[in-house]
Amino acid sequence: MYLKLHSDFHGNELALEAAEIIKSCVHCGFCNATCPTYQEFFDERDGPRGRIYLVKHMLESGQAGDATRKHLDRCLTCRACETTCPSGVRYGRLADIGREIIEEKTRRPLVEKLQRRFARKVFPYPDRVRILLALGRLVQWLLPSRLRRQIPPRQRLFAPAGKQSSSQRKMIVLKGCVQAVATPGTNDAARRVLQRLDIDLIEAPSAGCCGALSYHLAAREEGLGFMRRNIDAWWPYIDAGAEAIVSTASACGVMIGDYGDLLQDDPEYSARARRVSELAKDLSEVIEAEDLSVFRDSTSNRTTAVHCPCTLMHGQKRGGSLESILESSGISLVETSEKHLCCGSAGVYSLLQPKISRRLLERKLAALSVGKPEQIVTANIGCQLHLGSQSDVPVKHWIELLDDRRVDLPFADSGHE
Ligand code: SF4
Ligand code: SF4
Repeated sequence: MYLKLHSDFHGNELALEAAEIIKSCVHCGFCNATCPTYQEFFDERDGPRGRIYLVKHMLESGQAGDATRKHLDRCLTCRACETTCPSGVRYGRLADIGREIIEEKTRRPLVEKLQRRFARKVFPYPDRVRILLALGRLVQWLLPSRLRRQIPPRQRLFAPAGKQSSSQRKMIVLKGCVQAVATPGTNDAARRVLQRLDIDLIEAPSAGCCGALSYHLAAREEGLGFMRRNIDAWWPYIDAGAEAIVSTASACGVMIGDYGDLLQDDPEYSARARRVSELAKDLSEVIEAEDLSVFRDSTSNRTTAVHCPCTLMHGQKRGGSLESILESSGISLVETSEKHLCCGSAGVYSLLQPKISRRLLERKLAALSVGKPEQIVTANIGCQLHLGSQSDVPVKHWIELLDDRRVDLPFADSGHE
């Protein structure tokens, strides 16, 4: 696709990168077939090819209007289009660049600005999420049922299983932000499961949000700040021989995998960021490489539907990995349909685009329910909470199914919400 940059963008590295991505698109339109928003609206501007044209027009004209912003805002950044694209167009990266430029060139309505600011100032900080969740639970009975169902149930944690393992194998686990408060049981279960595989999980106390939330809301510098903080927090453990950085939330794993690219121009951090990205692994990748026979006899056998998050399927190209692990562990899976479609969670999309998000949620739950599962599992906190807000059956993190030690353990007075 031919593109001539407007003089406003001469020498602008981001615009140059965007132009290269756009040039790789052959405008075949195959991507529209798997784009959730195109499938909802059947409007070219709500599909990847149309959005690429909108960014192209912005780069060529030097101008951006509210319509361009609206159609880019509606994109979930699910990257289903990347999986479908025969030309390898890096649409997700283009969307991030396009959003950053649009944010500079257009004026958002005040309500949207406040919503975005609220998301950026609350969700990446566990202490603030904890207060928000506590307030939500306090007034839960006053809320309309749609909002009430979005408040996650309390999770009970378990006391540490005796003495710490003395395993030689150490991996760093991302503590995260919302997950650390809303579903702390996920990392708790991962720690126990990995202990059975003779791997110790280490949590760096000063690490936190992976930076994805700010980064995808066009607050690049803020996002890079979170990334640098994590690199500093993890580095002593990497120096000491930690063999991986494990994410139990697939969206965070994608972000950490991108640290190397995003910080490549930072002389102080580029080499360490590259190393961190090399070490980044989704929990499924770690577990898949181990002998799973130890889990075969002890797992629950409730029929289970798997929702593979877009960040695992399209972002990390690990579609099918959850099914493979769970089936190897003797768990009965049921059929689902429309596996490629996003559930509508997409970070804070459900907050910023509630109507589209809800339509996608209903469609996804119907697709997950065709085999009448007794439970649904997924691999990302956003999907788990979003699906759980409307599902008739429990929605869990898949690692909880492998965690069969909890029955032997006393509950901990964790202080977690
Ligand atoms: S499938 Fe790829 S090459 Fe074809 S229009 Fe979509 S992004 Fe462009
Ligand atoms: S990232 Fe997802 S929503 Fe956005 S254009 Fe691609 S397929 Fe459509």
